[in-house]
Amino acid sequence: MTVPGVSADRSPRDGRPARVLIVEDDAGIATQLARGLQIAGYETSSLGAGRDVPGCPAADVVLLDLGLPDVDGIEVCRQLRARSDVAIIVVTARGEEADRVRALDEGADDYLVKPFGVAELLARIRAVLRRRRSHDDEVLRCGDLAVDVRACKVTLKGREIAVTPKEFGILECLASDPGRVVSRQDILDQAWDAHWYGPMKGLDVHIAALRKKLGEPKIIETVYGRGFRLADPR
Ligand code: CA
Repeated sequence: MTVPGVSADRSPRDGRPARVLIVEDDAGIATQLARGLQIAGYETSSLGAGRDVPGCPAADVVLLDLGLPDVDGIEVCRQLRARSDVAIIVVTARGEEADRVRALDEGADDYLVKPFGVAELLARIRAVLRRRRSHDDEVLRCGDLAVDVRACKVTLKGREIAVTPKEFGILECLASDPGRVVSRQDILDQAWDAHWYGPMKGLDVHIAALRKKLGEPKIIETVYGRGFRLADPR
């Protein structure tokens, strides 16, 4: 729930108020955190144990206690990071350097030692969302297809697809404006050297290879006489 009339930080995914999942077995602390976050305009949900976290509905930020009754928080952090790029802030009484290092190495974005003030927690949430947002600007998305321009990485439904530099260039070109027809010459100009006037047959070979690698040939539509278009693979 959120408190009406308060403007929250927005989710980098869909522009809605950001969603915070609180993983905390101390009901008093969980309630207090939820209240502070809701007053600041965030949507919250809570879990009192670690086992349900990896399958939990999408959140933008997870506040993760390490001392959980069933699974150690570090293990939860590891499992969560293996399947999601959600922002994870560890919120714990364990303040040892070794704990901080382990949590950060297992994928936590930030680490906050109890007790802390709500203002600091909110500032840290804003900071991780800001970092996510600037990172997301470099990821072109079309349905389940993500083209990470910074890391030169292509994933489909979370599965990484190994592509050649030219194939990556073609996908980057198409994914920069999904649904728009991109002419063969435009693709060649952007993915090959600019002003490339050679035969265009090479492009078809690369497109065919890409369709095969993606496993869903319909993602790249041929628009006869005009070029290619990226279709929503869902
Ligand atoms: Ca605890």
